[in-house]
Amino acid sequence: MPEIKRGEWTVIAGPCAAESCEQILLTAKSVMDSGAQYLRAGLWKPRTSADSWQGSGDRGVEWMIEAKRQTGVKLATEVKDTHSIDLTLKNGFELLWIGSRSAQHYPLLEEIGKATSDGRTIVMLKRGMGTDLKDWLGAASYITRHNTNVILCERGVRGFGTDTRNILDLQTAWLAQKESGLPVIIDPSHAAGRADLITPMSLATKAAGLSGLIVEVHPDPANARTDSKQQLNFEDFGRLMNRLRQIPSLNA
Ligand code: PEP
Ligand code: MN
Repeated sequence: MPEIKRGEWTVIAGPCAAESCEQILLTAKSVMDSGAQYLRAGLWKPRTSADSWQGSGDRGVEWMIEAKRQTGVKLATEVKDTHSIDLTLKNGFELLWIGSRSAQHYPLLEEIGKATSDGRTIVMLKRGMGTDLKDWLGAASYITRHNTNVILCERGVRGFGTDTRNILDLQTAWLAQKESGLPVIIDPSHAAGRADLITPMSLATKAAGLSGLIVEVHPDPANARTDSKQQLNFEDFGRLMNRLRQIPSLNA
């Protein structure tokens, strides 16, 4: 049964969006070699505009399964409706997450809790970009009443400036881990919106005693179809993982 433990250190890495089978296989091999345990990739992308590319959709499921077959990597993706929940569960994805835009969609939270009530699939709840600790933990309770195999993910809250996409709120992340007893991990890619901040924010996350990271990694970030500014290339991700090894994991 896949489990992410509080006080241990888990890294989920992969592209913002699944773009092709080749991209998924290359990335899976590289992030596994660098020490990540889970491959992330968005299949059904929640885009700001309905006119933007909406992701590979169901086709990407096959690419992810092939990556697992070839490397043994565990699979993580975002689900946003009954269809995506059913398809990923049927295909043995180890971790399903609810994205920031769905973070207070209570019927969806109930639904994923019920669909995973055997506790065999990890559900990760991202923090809504405009929610406080009470909102976040309250939303998590809709899932944990059915499945307690839940982790939380801080991905930045809206700020007032334009230098970074969001503000990484390590304070609330730390409080969420303390108050809920659930593992809390950080998404420095969506928090910062820029690749140069990923390493320092990741090191701070581990030093603060949080439980892991979800990081965007792409074979060719400059040409990524989504979020091109905030993805690490393979080499920089490997370097980040080496630096993280120098920090012990602490139990916050
Ligand atoms: C993602 O991780 O792919 C994503 C869309 O993140 P968020 O929901 O935090 O914006
Ligand atoms: Mn993204």
